[in-house]
Amino acid sequence: FLKTKIVILGAGYGGLMTTVRLQKKIRTDEVEIVLINKNNYHYETTWLHEAAAGTLRDDQVTYPVKSVIDVKKVAFIQASVTKIATAEKKVMTNIGEVSYDYLVIALGGESETFGIKGLKEYAFSITSVDAAKRIREHIESQFSTYQNEALKKEERLTIIVGGAGFTGIEFLGELVNRIPKLCKTYEIDQNKVKIYCVEAAKAVLPGFDPELVEYAVAYLEKRGVEFKIGTPIKGADPEGILVGIGEEETQEIKAGTVIWAAGIRGSSVIEESGFEANRCRVKVDPDLRAPGHENIFIIGDCSLIINEEINRPYPPTAQIALQQADVVTNNLLALLRQETNLTAFKPDIKGTVCSLGERDAIGIVFGKKLKGKPASVMKKVIDNRALFSIGGTSTVLKKGKFNIL
Ligand code: FAD
Ligand code: NAD
Repeated sequence: FLKTKIVILGAGYGGLMTTVRLQKKIRTDEVEIVLINKNNYHYETTWLHEAAAGTLRDDQVTYPVKSVIDVKKVAFIQASVTKIATAEKKVMTNIGEVSYDYLVIALGGESETFGIKGLKEYAFSITSVDAAKRIREHIESQFSTYQNEALKKEERLTIIVGGAGFTGIEFLGELVNRIPKLCKTYEIDQNKVKIYCVEAAKAVLPGFDPELVEYAVAYLEKRGVEFKIGTPIKGADPEGILVGIGEEETQEIKAGTVIWAAGIRGSSVIEESGFEANRCRVKVDPDLRAPGHENIFIIGDCSLIINEEINRPYPPTAQIALQQADVVTNNLLALLRQETNLTAFKPDIKGTVCSLGERDAIGIVFGKKLKGKPASVMKKVIDNRALFSIGGTSTVLKKGKFNIL
């Protein structure tokens, strides 16, 4: 008697939530659950900008996968997925192959550089704990080198953030809190530090509530951020970036650090595995299965869901990934019961809150505008709620954000 094997790829919001939901609902003698993740820890992707700026330590944004899974029910494999051979129902990893009956792909996102020259080589992106660490250490090393060099290279103290989307703005919010501390440590005059936010669109946080955007811009400008809007980044090199000025001209901005926060795509594993996709995001069926694949679900940043009201894709968020995990769990259970009627996924968007450092934020929650302290408290509630929904009370107590004064 062969057990049915469910394999889940990725222990982020979508994958780990699916795993903990399944382990509660499934009897192990019928089904084998396997979770594959690159690291032996889960990280809070939505907190990575804090690790990147150095306002949170790595261990504050991570917890061990095994602290939330039931190892009697779930086999955890630490490995990097390289490809899915759908015809053979096999997952290829850096340490070997794993076969599956049902597959849940939740491998998250990667940086999208739109083919802009030099970005992959010379810009950083906030995409993982390791990537966040590289950013934090790079900035610190620029400050340390500046302090110690005889002939001072002023550009070392220039930081460019490409993109004024939520990632760019949240990172800037952390950075403006971090810079005064770095300046103190390395005895650097803070006036020498330059922070630019370069945004191609005509506005910061394009499409978001203008009054709240104005609040965020004023907050960040007051703390030294210079916005260059309507200014697309056209290239990067070891000295800095090239930006477009008007139709034809370009201009160079020299910088010691360039952070590219101007786009994400799904996992490259999607493309490698031959799924029909747009920037590695698969337009999934309403029941979250990949078109043409009855046994493969795709959720989170690797999936694409259309908002029928405006006929445009929903922005990929943790909020959606967590909600999709619930639907996938129910649909897997239905398939195991041989049912054919699966549940359609409908996002229930409760709002968006964008932090501005630890103590300020802007947001719209249940249609209500928030800014300042109430928004910041709400953001921490949302962060703690995500911890709770996967890891329960003990994870919230260990990793939660309680500093609300
Ligand atoms: P993730 O949660 O990113 O998890 C993917 C997992 O897969 C990771 O554990 C990774 O290590 C693993 N993995 C990746 N590749 C492989 C591989 N090849 N082999 C094995 N394992 C692999 N959304 C919100 O709703 N609210 C927010 O406030 C918010 N803030 C954000 C702040 C930042 C700085 C960023 C970058 C994003 C933010 N988002 C936010 C978006 C949100 O984080 C993503 O939409 C969400 O994480 C997607 O969930 P996921 O399960 O698809 O992927
Ligand atoms: P994004 O795609 O939302 O924003 C990217 C920004 O970069 C846009 O404003 C775009 O106009 C700009 N841009 C694109 N090309 C450019 C260029 N060549 N030069 C300069 N600017 C350029 O990406 P993101 O901010 O990383 O967000 C990714 C996803 O994560 C989104 O779905 C977002 O909603 C979600 N997110 C949510 C939160 C939150 O809810 N607090 C925080 C971070 C991210």
